[in-house]
Amino acid sequence: MTDALTAKAGELDHADPLDGYRERFAVPDGVIYLDGNSLGALPAATPARLAQVVRGEWGEGLIRSWNPDGNGGAGWIDLPQRLGAKIAPLVGAAPHEVIAADSTSVNLFKLIAAALAMNPGRKTILSEPGNFPTDLYMIAGLEAQGLATRRLAPREGLAEALDGDVALLLLTHVHYKTGAMHDMAALTSAAHAAGALVLWDLSHSAGALPVHLNRCNADFAVGCGYKYLNGGPGAPAFAFVAERHHDALSQPLTGWMGHAAPFAFTDDYAPAPGVARLLCGTPPVLGLAALEVGVDIVAEIGVVRLYAKSQALSEFFRECLRDLGVVLELVSPVEPDRRGSQLSFRHPDAYALSQALIARGVIGDFRDPDILRLGFAPAYLRFADMAAAAHHLAQVLAGQEWRREEFARRAAVT
Ligand SMILES: *Cc1c(COP(=O)(O)O)cnc(C)c1O
Repeated sequence: MTDALTAKAGELDHADPLDGYRERFAVPDGVIYLDGNSLGALPAATPARLAQVVRGEWGEGLIRSWNPDGNGGAGWIDLPQRLGAKIAPLVGAAPHEVIAADSTSVNLFKLIAAALAMNPGRKTILSEPGNFPTDLYMIAGLEAQGLATRRLAPREGLAEALDGDVALLLLTHVHYKTGAMHDMAALTSAAHAAGALVLWDLSHSAGALPVHLNRCNADFAVGCGYKYLNGGPGAPAFAFVAERHHDALSQPLTGWMGHAAPFAFTDDYAPAPGVARLLCGTPPVLGLAALEVGVDIVAEIGVVRLYAKSQALSEFFRECLRDLGVVLELVSPVEPDRRGSQLSFRHPDAYALSQALIARGVIGDFRDPDILRLGFAPAYLRFADMAAAAHHLAQVLAGQEWRREEFARRAAVT
């Protein structure tokens, strides 16, 4: 590594107001973790919080813990709403417009179906080719029931594809593969002008950058709990519904937890007021408790500071690559404010390249067919990590280390 880069990284870390937050995460020694966009790192406080929920709230409190805090309860029953209210300011929503529940996939299903029901006479769901697979697949079940028709149009053609048949525009705000960011305000307003509703997938935005759902007049959103929100593997996801749609909101997974009075045990379904009707079954308390720790850290740091650091990290990483003479095709937008918190590079052997980097402790990932994806979760990465990761990448490329046979074998999860 050049001395100048190391020295500059040290200065940037020294001046970084978020530098202290790295200690709030348990990043293993010897690992440079560039995959927080896929599975966020473990917050240092999570194990103790989970132990407390398991031993105290479950072990000692038993069924009493479902009840509100105070009377011997631990407030489990309100966790989906409480957590939703904490996620809301991170995505530009009001506290009562967000709920933590289910997976992103399941929330997509509920909200796509809800949008179709709100826009009678229209069946078309418009999205883009190459959107995250589950976003496209979740339309298929509704198509099979004759309720929906999928239409895909390339990014540049989305506005023109919004005709009188489109019930819903369904897009991922920050593209999982390229990191390219859509103009949420412009596309939302184009969809509304065409009489369509909009559902934004914030999986690669929430906790990484400021999102302004209400300022953009968005109708619906979903997002992931285990990426930049650090909720842990398979963490519950979240869903947003703009307040103006709360009374009309009707979704098909009419489970008892979304009932207006679940403990009245009546035979007929009646939806709970507001976003609570998005609940289906019993909330996963352990998952929600872990997610709360991750969300609390993000909220404490603030998405504006996180995004500023993410841009500084990725720009410094590119500077290091330039300095080290690394030439790789950047697939992500060059302008930092047009991308999320990642840089994606194209390489014909991107898989082997990602494996060779992992062998050196630099954990990024591979996305089919030829993308090396490096995520810059700003809460726990240092500028020194950028310099070191760039150095490893330069060495792997210069020594053609990725050509080694062991790096070609594909694992089940890439
Ligand atoms: C990660 C991700 C998901 C995840 O969906 P799950 O139901 O949690 O598996 C959905 N959409 C996008 C855009 C993602 O990046």
